Amino acid sequence: MDNKLSIIHMDMDAFYASVEEMDNPSLKGKPLIVGNSDRGIVTTCNYEARKYGVHSAMPVFMAKKLCPHANFVPNRRERYLEISGKVFEIVYTLTEMVEKVSIDEAYIDISDIPFSSLEAVDYIRTNVKEKIGLTMSFGISYNKFLAKIASDWDKPEGLKIITEDMMPEILFPFPLEKVHGIGKKSAEKFYKIGVYTVKDLYNLDEEFLVKMLGKGGREVYNRIRGVDYREVTSKRERKSIGSERTFVPTRDNKILYKYLEEFSSELSENLIDKNLKAKTISVKIKYDDFTNHQKSRTLSSYIDKSSDIYEISRELFSEFNRDKKIRLIGITLSNLTSSKIYQLELFD
Ligand SMILES: [Mg+2]
Repeated sequence: MDNKLSIIHMDMDAFYASVEEMDNPSLKGKPLIVGNSDRGIVTTCNYEARKYGVHSAMPVFMAKKLCPHANFVPNRRERYLEISGKVFEIVYTLTEMVEKVSIDEAYIDISDIPFSSLEAVDYIRTNVKEKIGLTMSFGISYNKFLAKIASDWDKPEGLKIITEDMMPEILFPFPLEKVHGIGKKSAEKFYKIGVYTVKDLYNLDEEFLVKMLGKGGREVYNRIRGVDYREVTSKRERKSIGSERTFVPTRDNKILYKYLEEFSSELSENLIDKNLKAKTISVKIKYDDFTNHQKSRTLSSYIDKSSDIYEISRELFSEFNRDKKIRLIGITLSNLTSSKIYQLELFD
């Protein structure tokens, strides 16, 4: 696949409602609305409720009129935060280049890791489904704006790729509010002059958009032409550390274990040097056919000893399918903390 397609937008499907269904399976299959105070608003609803026209940000009393037989449950923010943390822990085992947009949404830039965007999506989707039990949708493209449009394409459990050659036509049918930078108020202004879709917007020249939208007009003009220079910015301070090597493809465990052992002591020295400890260990391999695979484990406590890293990486390694020869092996340590903070936490 095109290696420029390195931006992923991920979005949990009906997140709050899905957590409620997961915790209480008897809610499944019926319309479910999160938000139960009459004066409040709907924070999320499941897909069954959406069929009745219910959507998030709608007042609860209106949702009750549209769908009186729905189950209404209160908002349990603490629980959603806890699950969100688990989802992001999985994402961070893949890369640190993650920009969280909200509790259930993020951009991921995979240009620094040896995985294709499809492999990355598959990894996150499979792990989140198996370890947590929730589904999510993904968009893949060459910039943030298009990745976000793509993840919304085909929910739930969607996956859409937008490539350069699909542009700009693929955006034409969208209502113009879909364009990042056009809010409700600006949209109203456009309606008044008969501009409703991205196609209509596309026919306007740049100066006119600046007149309508201020300096953001230039960005909107570029965005619908597939130009968006915004970078994925990770707020995480500590990156992961890792070691990997490529070699003549082999199946020989002696050689492969030797690498794991070497990496473990390299990484342990590195941690101790920098006063760090790690909680998540990942082992990645590349098979002879160039497909990449990764196994990760997050421990209940932080480690920095070579023997601990080696033991866990061997366990992880033993989970891989070994029918094919391996041409690359590596260990990555993430979820790092400074030893000082770690000690403080222990004594707390
Ligand atoms: Mg969502």
